[in-house]
Amino acid sequence: MTFATLGLIEPLLRALETLGYQTPTPVQAQAIPAVLAGRDLMAAAQTGTGKTAGFAVPLLQLLTMEGPKVAPNSARALILCPTRELAEQVHASVAEYAQNLPLTTYAVYGGVSINPQMMKLRKGVDILVATPGRLIDLFRQNALKLNQLQTLVLDEADRMLDLGFSEELANIYRMLPKKRQTLLFSATFSDDIRQLAGQMLNDPLSIEVSPRNVAANTVKQWIVPVDKKRKPELFVHLMRKGRWKQVLVFAKTRNGVDALVDKLQGLGVNADGIHGDKPQATRQRALDRFKSSDVQILVATDVAARGLDIEDLPLVVNFDLPIVAEDYIHRIGRTGRAGNTGEAISLVCADEVNMLSAIEMLTRQTLARHMEQDFEPEHRVPETDASGQVVKKPKKPKKPKASGGGGKRNLGKWVDSGEVAPAEPSIKPVRKVPVFNTGPRKKK
Ligand code: AMP
Repeated sequence: MTFATLGLIEPLLRALETLGYQTPTPVQAQAIPAVLAGRDLMAAAQTGTGKTAGFAVPLLQLLTMEGPKVAPNSARALILCPTRELAEQVHASVAEYAQNLPLTTYAVYGGVSINPQMMKLRKGVDILVATPGRLIDLFRQNALKLNQLQTLVLDEADRMLDLGFSEELANIYRMLPKKRQTLLFSATFSDDIRQLAGQMLNDPLSIEVSPRNVAANTVKQWIVPVDKKRKPELFVHLMRKGRWKQVLVFAKTRNGVDALVDKLQGLGVNADGIHGDKPQATRQRALDRFKSSDVQILVATDVAARGLDIEDLPLVVNFDLPIVAEDYIHRIGRTGRAGNTGEAISLVCADEVNMLSAIEMLTRQTLARHMEQDFEPEHRVPETDASGQVVKKPKKPKKPKASGGGGKRNLGKWVDSGEVAPAEPSIKPVRKVPVFNTGPRKKK
């Protein structure tokens, strides 16, 4: 299959060729014709498998071929993202795909001055990428009207529909025309979110190109049990032993990020941090420097868990496990992208056994354990498995095994998800979801 056989117009084919995209990925092969046909979509595909082009490319075609010119202070399509960095990245991709088209694109998000954004919106933009808070501000200040909107995309849709954004999303829904196309894309969809999403869509097509809620199967994953207080020491030990070159590290709290960055910098390691308390310019600069390999170790909260595309990233380390199991999939999905291989190592202490168990249940796998010599925990991490049970009494520590980074780039070799997942877990992870009234949808 080629992009041409999916019915894309020549300027888009040329842009994709310039970017080196030869073959559509599985999610693109299914999503592109469906979006072109005007369908509402709920699309689940593993991290790093080309979801952005899956919605953006056909959307650009629709906007080129159909609908009136954009009016002042209006947008014809809106892509909502959960973080500012992701909004910036999605916009950069959209702009690349649109390079040969007479369409305008723009990204708005908080943490930076609103005035230039208001100025830019004056003439209207065809595709607007936004984080919810800033979008609402712009709307309230009359800088943006949404009555011309044809298509709404929720990127990282399950996160957007989650409790954290429920109020903002409910507000945004009230601003949108009832008659529109809605596209939901994510690597993870819990059953509750799926149900909620189903109520918001009009005769939706569900696309699933991988077993539910699994990380890309190109990512090798394991855990190292350790006592909580020894995590920093273990991290440094593993970093030196594995000669880690470029590592994205996730910590639970902002303080945790700062503490690890301080420790690493104190040791002369080229490290930086990203979290919600930092100014946006500092956040973006740290990310850009990490992407260009000017920073070796980037420590982040879950603000960096979703969607960020860091070329050739070989290794993700969970210094702490995420509280929400789905975030594990997104975090480790920063590596092993675009058909590359990658590794994900989690440092797990006894306190985190419930989170470990929830992750194993969700991903239907028991994570391999590597005990590191001289770091065997005093507070043993009880054994868990994918059934969600703590299965056995703790065993004696095993012999250590070598670990290390080192991903291999293999662009274009898309691993399809024919892999058979073990049986569904008997106990489902609990996830709260918001209830908001999306109102009756008119038929298109
Ligand atoms: P995404 O999941 O949209 O963040 O994309 C992951 C990475 O795959 C990005 O670096 C894209 O540029 C790249 N990519 C997306 N689609 C294709 C394709 N059809 N062929 C080659 N690379 C692609």
